[in-house]
Amino acid sequence: MALTSKLPHVGTTIFTVMSKLAAECGAINLSQGFPDFPIDEKLSDLVNAAMRTGHNQYAPMPGLPALREAITNKVERLYGFSYDADAEVTIAAGGTQAIFTAIGAVVHPGDEVIIVDPAYDCYSPTVELFGGKPVHVRLAADMRFDAEAVKAAITPRTRMLMINTPHNPAGTILRDADMKRVADMLRGTDIILLSDEVYEHLVFDGEPHASVIDHPELRERAFVIYSFGKVFHATGWKMGYALAPRELMAEFRKVHQFNVFSVNTPIQVALAEYMKDAANYEAVSPFYQAKRDRFAGGMKNSRFKLLPCEGSYFQTADYSAISNDEDLSFAQRVTRDFGVATIPLSPFYKEPPAGQRLLRFCFAKQDATLDAAIEKLCRI
Ligand code: GLN
Repeated sequence: MALTSKLPHVGTTIFTVMSKLAAECGAINLSQGFPDFPIDEKLSDLVNAAMRTGHNQYAPMPGLPALREAITNKVERLYGFSYDADAEVTIAAGGTQAIFTAIGAVVHPGDEVIIVDPAYDCYSPTVELFGGKPVHVRLAADMRFDAEAVKAAITPRTRMLMINTPHNPAGTILRDADMKRVADMLRGTDIILLSDEVYEHLVFDGEPHASVIDHPELRERAFVIYSFGKVFHATGWKMGYALAPRELMAEFRKVHQFNVFSVNTPIQVALAEYMKDAANYEAVSPFYQAKRDRFAGGMKNSRFKLLPCEGSYFQTADYSAISNDEDLSFAQRVTRDFGVATIPLSPFYKEPPAGQRLLRFCFAKQDATLDAAIEKLCRI
């Protein structure tokens, strides 16, 4: 049978590769981003109660009204803007599914989509799958947003710009001034913005999360993507949501209804209740900041050089003082020989910068896990 791959250059994601290797080697897994501690018992009790009280059939296609309202209330509280819970919010099966759906809804064959490398690994293949043309630019050398580089990539064929803050894998954030630059470059164009803000509640050192929602000019043209898994330590639930103005959201839902139709009902019931208490999401930033600081403190005694981590639960580190190996082979060696799995940065680039020697460490782990990993990493 002749089979023509739609994604001939795509292999298995680096997250799957490194988590598998970690399991095979019995290594501490700081690679794929997920917490190794339990969720809040209050939240699992709410899911349990929802199942017991019969919330086990299809949810409405765009999501449970109560959850969509809880989201619009939260957004209004944080960003002072009210999305319409009926028409402008859709509950998705995780951030990745929401991104896939948004791209599928608006990218036509031949459309250009600007992607800023290092970029989360689903962006580019999803654009290609729908016939779009990924146009790759890079973050600046300090891993911060480079507005000039992005602006220079805009052409009359640009259909979408994808941005991500806090940034995975870099751990940097966009600030309000960056958002203003984005608004300047998009003004007068028909470019749709996709803002991946799944680490919204993981911003450190007292900085606010700069959201496109804060900027009327940006939110009017934006899909904004969020994740419950990141905030409530439940990545395996695959639950997230998208916000967009009604015209964009109508197109999103056309795809969503034939992709997943609707997502997990009892979890939606539980989240609607749990989100009412703002403390449940406000506690997340100090909690992870303490983990970041614990990890960074311990790694001071290592030969890794840590880059600034302003948000997300990822710390990037330069290992050029240890080895000149390519990052994938170095990450594999560290997993096998030193017992700690990490993520190399090169899979997040169309073309990795020559000589860049960076690994990403996930610090969403119990203190004991972090301490054990630090001890091993300091031996390298
Ligand atoms: N978002 C997670 C990470 O960056 C990975 C999710 C996945 O494995 N697809 O590590």
